[in-house]
Amino acid sequence: REGWHSDSSDSVISSSSDSEDHVFKVILLGEHGVGKSSLARIFGGVEDLHDVEEAGNTYDRSVVVDGEEACLLVFDIWEQPVLVWFQDNTHWLHNQCMKMGDAYVIVYSVTDKASFEKASELRIQLRRARQSEDIPIILVGNKSDLVRSREVSVEEGRACAVVFDCKFIETSAALHHNVKDLFEGIVRQIRLRKDSKED
Ligand code: GDP
Ligand code: MG
Repeated sequence: REGWHSDSSDSVISSSSDSEDHVFKVILLGEHGVGKSSLARIFGGVEDLHDVEEAGNTYDRSVVVDGEEACLLVFDIWEQPVLVWFQDNTHWLHNQCMKMGDAYVIVYSVTDKASFEKASELRIQLRRARQSEDIPIILVGNKSDLVRSREVSVEEGRACAVVFDCKFIETSAALHHNVKDLFEGIVRQIRLRKDSKED
């Protein structure tokens, strides 16, 4: 689609070595069921493949934003099946996620107040993990198409983003609404911070 490519995580390592500077690791955070995998699959251009679901996936895609190419590695690995033989797995994984990202997408569902509260918690956790770093964070209210079961208003979402000093966007993975804007916005946020560091 549109000449963009997606790939499995196997090739991620080789493709990231040539232009390290333009490869950005983006981590999706949020409660179960809010639409992380749906958003990631749209980004990766593989939404019709239902067999990619279970284990957690990474999507590798080049995007041209403001005339300049950037490669995003989008990690949909926050939720993993808990391994019975290693109960501490999830905790370890979450710590890794908090450390490894160049940018974060914290997703909640506008139809689920609890997921919105969880998003605030994740924001606080992230702040603690990356204390003095100024990393781009986008708060995403997904499922904006489900108008009648909405529990979180646009204003509440926006206000939360102001308090937590991050960007905000509402999306609908079901309608593909604002999904492209979301990922382009991430690239812009990363570039803004890079440019101000170089000044
Ligand atoms: P995850 O657990 O955060 O990865 O969430 P999923 O991407 O698996 O989505 C959970 C469920 O919500 C699935 O049934 C999706 O089809 C559905 N879903 C995800 N995004 C949207 C959306 O924007 N609108 C609607 N109506 N359903 C959505
Ligand atoms: Mg998922």
